Amino acid sequence: MSTYDLIIRNGYVVLPDEVKKTDVAIQNGVIIKIGNLLGDTGLEEYEACDQYVFPGMIDVHVHFSEPGRAHWEGFETGSQMMAAGGCTTYFDMPLNGIPSTIDEAALLEKAKVGEAKSVVDFGLWGGLVPGNIEELEGLAKSGAVGFKAFLSATGNDKFERADDFTLLHGMREIAKLDKILALHAESDSITQFLKQEKEDQGLFSAEDYAATRPVLAEAEAVERALTYAEMTGCRLHFVHISSGLAMEKIEAAKRCGLDVTVETCPHYLLFNQDTLVEKGTVAKCAPPLRDKAEQEKLIALLIEGRFDMISSDHSPCPYELKDPAEHNLFEAWGGISGGQFSLLSMIELAITYEIPFHKIADWIAGAPAERFGLSSRKGQIKVGKEGDVAIVSLNDTHTVTEDNFFAKHKQSVYMGHTFPCTINATFKKGKPVYEKGEITQQDRGTWLKSMEIEPSI
Ligand code: ZN
Repeated sequence: MSTYDLIIRNGYVVLPDEVKKTDVAIQNGVIIKIGNLLGDTGLEEYEACDQYVFPGMIDVHVHFSEPGRAHWEGFETGSQMMAAGGCTTYFDMPLNGIPSTIDEAALLEKAKVGEAKSVVDFGLWGGLVPGNIEELEGLAKSGAVGFKAFLSATGNDKFERADDFTLLHGMREIAKLDKILALHAESDSITQFLKQEKEDQGLFSAEDYAATRPVLAEAEAVERALTYAEMTGCRLHFVHISSGLAMEKIEAAKRCGLDVTVETCPHYLLFNQDTLVEKGTVAKCAPPLRDKAEQEKLIALLIEGRFDMISSDHSPCPYELKDPAEHNLFEAWGGISGGQFSLLSMIELAITYEIPFHKIADWIAGAPAERFGLSSRKGQIKVGKEGDVAIVSLNDTHTVTEDNFFAKHKQSVYMGHTFPCTINATFKKGKPVYEKGEITQQDRGTWLKSMEIEPSI
């Protein structure tokens, strides 16, 4: 008979290749045994009978805005929201804080705030912007998980989009540093040109906004970036890909041996342009929610396992910025506030389209861990990995309300949505962070500096 720090008993455990009803023992924050633990005891025990035990989500794409814009979203409420959604590790993007994370000092300043406030583990992206090529090495050496650049306008003049020269130069440097460049891929020329046409005509409805960011704008930017990757040898990760055409180009490049990965986000799979028309600015994001036919293409690609991973692209703001005069969609801040709902969304899709749960676990945890060098520690329910888990029930539904949404601002396209499942608890390194609607742990998470994690494969 052994005693462990925590035993999770009788759950349907979502292992890398199958779901198995069994027990999980965690000791010193690490999964030490998976199997029948009858006769063993835990200092803490969680009865997971009839519940699913998923690996904690690793969400590589969230936008918290601290330091500088904590009134948009900060590490404290932001990380609590992620924990309530079954996420135990997130990577924060470099765009929204003041200062933007475009040099070492800004990275270290942000890390300090995160270490003081985040309730789960986190990594930090560095930015690639015009004029900061000299800073990339310092960012890499001080712990950035990778770099992020925008090919279209960012809405933040302190974090400008990368023009083609910056992109080429940056990719050359990032290849040398053996890092990954994450790209927001939409053509600036196409989107600006179409926007100008709409503005000249005084058109600013949801359909007008969507029409200025067509699938072709995404596909063109993807193709250009892939060409540059071939030239420079830079590894790429495409964020929030939203079209079948862009996926065709990425898959062709993969077949040619380019080192490239791709994510999509739950909102492109659950919602479509009709949602943008109906709900307005809370459903505004870039690229925009696509029409129903494109949404169906994306779901088919998901079912076929073509996306490497799923991220939330959680991008919140104060309500005033979502409430422009005359409902002008172009003026509203673009971004969907949904970090709490990624795992729930993916389980909803899995139930609807009969996708095996172990595949969901790979997209939300296994694959991001492997791509970004966390796989020796995180990403799977496996002996030797950290005890980061989300306990999910399919016997209860979860309707999103202001009361159970942990984000600082409660406006979200998910408000009122009912998921056919709920997250009962989230454990970080074997300790409960979230249980039954409450944040239960105030221990801080760890800043995962890239040099402390294994090189990615
Ligand atoms: Zn984003």
